[in-house]
Amino acid sequence: ETLVNRIAAGEVIERPAAAVKELVENSLDAHARRVTVGLRDGGKAWLCVADDGDGMSRDELGLALERHATSKLPDDDLVRIATLGFRGEALPSIAAVARLSIASRARGAGEAWRIAVEGGGPPELAPAALGGGAKGGTRVEVRDLFFATPARLKFLKSARSEVMAVRDALERLAMAQPGVAFSLEHEERSLFRYEAESGDLFDARLKRLGAVMGREFQDNALALDARRESLHLTGYIGLPTLNKANALGQYLFVNGRPVRDRLLLGAIRGAYQDFLARDRHPMVALFLELPPEEVDVNVHPAKAEVRFRDPGLVRGLIVSACKHALAEAGH
Ligand code: ADP
Ligand code: MG
Repeated sequence: ETLVNRIAAGEVIERPAAAVKELVENSLDAHARRVTVGLRDGGKAWLCVADDGDGMSRDELGLALERHATSKLPDDDLVRIATLGFRGEALPSIAAVARLSIASRARGAGEAWRIAVEGGGPPELAPAALGGGAKGGTRVEVRDLFFATPARLKFLKSARSEVMAVRDALERLAMAQPGVAFSLEHEERSLFRYEAESGDLFDARLKRLGAVMGREFQDNALALDARRESLHLTGYIGLPTLNKANALGQYLFVNGRPVRDRLLLGAIRGAYQDFLARDRHPMVALFLELPPEEVDVNVHPAKAEVRFRDPGLVRGLIVSACKHALAEAGH
């Protein structure tokens, strides 16, 4: 593995939470109904993401570790991105900076295979034992993250803060996918376990939001459903009285992807500015849908920032929809 590749890899995979996010996105892209995440030492020593998705055949396993070997780019079209992954970078990046092992069984296949690679060395492929009968599924284990890049290793925080970052990343994905069961364990202790929510999307979503954001939010949040041109905004916002000292209670999704976008956060601040002190943050979970050509999610490898073709339109919709809901509730 070249130094350049390792540097690029460090940019995609900054910390355990980034690896977990990429791996869980792969599970979701593979139609998993249950995703299980385990960590040791905050994910620095070991992290594992197991799913019951489509799985991979022997040949697909071999291909998965090749740089830019994504199976998800229809016609090389970077504009229309329906799946979460689209760069074919995550697995090779992890393989470049850690000891990576992937065991998988393609749905319906009799046998399971495992591929293992260390620090970007040659991959080894062998038959594997994987529970779950003939059902498909994949289990990815990452050991000793950044063992091959000691400089990067030094920047990792305490196990506690790495666990918090993993938890936050996984909760955001869980909120976007209420029909999928998620669990997180650290050192064999369960941190959360969300069962798959059924019913229509809105019911299921509100229940999942309640599981993550708390019962008080679930019981008192104001529902939004607003459109402007090709934009559709749904979700829930908390009353101004339910506020926090940080932005951790603000969950934003664009076309089903968790994002952390300054424009969107600013719009929320704008909507609440008459009701909240500047250093307080309302709790919100907003889901914006818009045609893929109206938004560029390809800004940063970590994919949390987005760029809108018409930022003013997006901001206007959020501010007016939030203000309207707050006014209806008597604010
Ligand atoms: P990307 O997600 O951008 O395609 P990745 O490096 O994350 O790139 O994954 C490479 C490929 O490996 C994917 O395109 C997919 O075909 C396969 N893959 C990865 N993880 C899984 C999984 N959990 N289940 C099934 N296939 C997977
Ligand atoms: Mg991916």
